[in-house]
Amino acid sequence: MTARPLTARRAQMVSCLSCQLLSPVAAGRTHCSRCGSALSPRKVNSLSRCWALVLASYILYLPANLLPVTISTSFGRHPQTDTIMSGVIYFVKTDFWHIALIIFVASICVPLLKLIILTFLLCSLQLGWCKRPLERARLYRLTELVGRWSMVDVYVITIGVGLVKLGALSNFEAGPGAPYFAALVILTMFAVESFDPRLIWDQMEESQ
Ligand SMILES: [Zn+2]
Repeated sequence: MTARPLTARRAQMVSCLSCQLLSPVAAGRTHCSRCGSALSPRKVNSLSRCWALVLASYILYLPANLLPVTISTSFGRHPQTDTIMSGVIYFVKTDFWHIALIIFVASICVPLLKLIILTFLLCSLQLGWCKRPLERARLYRLTELVGRWSMVDVYVITIGVGLVKLGALSNFEAGPGAPYFAALVILTMFAVESFDPRLIWDQMEESQ
């Protein structure tokens, strides 16, 4: 049987989340001596904050996808509203399939994928599941990786749709679904950030 690896926690140390400096727990410091950040062995209330943000994001996912995100008006015509999905269908029909694919992946698949992965990770921790920690840590890294492109989602919809339709239209503006979509993107980013992946390994250590 291999020896358990030494972690900051087992060595009675606390790692600064900002600069990674190790400080002894016994010293009783509340702030990092190097960068001044608040010290905590794990992200504070990680699970409850992540659950709250994930649930709020699921709620926002509905109006973000069901309400129109764009309203376009052209001279002498009725305003035309588009949801994210009807925008995707519009681009498929007009042979801009590559833009349709980018919007579909960035705006429909990515937020949902992040929420499903976070829900799975939260459930696995709440149920005390100790199996496959490496795979779960990799799943979390995947949400961090796609999270870096999250802000692109908002621009893809607003600028992408606007540019393509611009030639034929006199006016183009954000619809009532757009603020919900922007809030969804921001909350999922905070949800990913609030999750502490070290809890996966803590649980495995505690079970041994
Ligand atoms: Zn620090």
